[in-house]
Amino acid sequence: MRGVAREAGSVRLLSGQKALVTGANSGIGRATAIRLGRAGADVVVNYVADRTAAEEVVKEIQGFGVRAYAHEADVSQEDQVVRMVSRMVDELGTIDVLVANAGLQRDAPIASMSLQEWHTVLEVNLTGQFLCAREAVKEFRRRGVVPDVSRAAGKIICMSSVHQVIPWAGHVNYASSKGGVQMMMATLAQELAPERIRVNAVAPGAIRTPINRGAWETDEAEAGLLKLIPYGRIGEPEDIADAVLVMASDLLDYVVGTTLYVDGGMTLFPGFATGG
Ligand code: NAD
Repeated sequence: MRGVAREAGSVRLLSGQKALVTGANSGIGRATAIRLGRAGADVVVNYVADRTAAEEVVKEIQGFGVRAYAHEADVSQEDQVVRMVSRMVDELGTIDVLVANAGLQRDAPIASMSLQEWHTVLEVNLTGQFLCAREAVKEFRRRGVVPDVSRAAGKIICMSSVHQVIPWAGHVNYASSKGGVQMMMATLAQELAPERIRVNAVAPGAIRTPINRGAWETDEAEAGLLKLIPYGRIGEPEDIADAVLVMASDLLDYVVGTTLYVDGGMTLFPGFATGG
């Protein structure tokens, strides 16, 4: 299989590839950066706050015998994203995989949501993905396909959410940003497929991370959440990391412009299981 080496009985799906994971010092991004490193990729661990946590992720990745470093950048700031990708090309030679993961919530009912809360969420969750994708595409194009590394010239995985399709009262900024991610992903996939650049999304359901602590940290909250998940458990960051790994690898080389829902069935309208 192209671009694949073996390691201790397991296949290193991303051997020789260079991956950038944004928001990689916490939650899903952290688990994904570690998973890609374990699969043989050199990894840039982006963070915007908490350098110590980012350095811990770097150390863990380096333990797999690959290269990694932490890079501070706010993904909503054009100059910072440009610098981040250009440093990656200088230090690691190129970028093969972008996981546009950084995201946040600023929840409020519509009448009390400030314009700043609206802007902040759109700027990080949507504009941030656009900026990272744009800079990655420039390098994918410059380098082109290197068959020994991957069948594609580059892979972009947008971290979306089940809220790209499930409306979410009290979170209009967040749901709008993820709906935007879905259409941005599909449009870029259409635009870039002829150049063998694959753009796809992974859409998590409820995953146990700091972003949604309130939804799972008490027994009562967890019980309420579980009613929305047919599979009967809250997801872990590693559930998403494994999905991103496979999406980034040549195993899914023919998958273009798709959203992979990793949600324990949350998008199956569980309320209709007994009614409707
Ligand atoms: P998290 O809060 O643990 O991680 C979010 C990361 O993004 C953090 O490292 C944070 O510092 C970083 N970040 C925020 N603003 C940034 C900026 N301007 N520049 C760079 N980094 C920035 O939460 P998580 O659950 O791991 O979230 C990761 C992604 O997964 C987000 O896009 C989120 O919307 C998505 N998601 C999460 C869930 C869930 O249930 N946890 C569900 C659906 C989608």
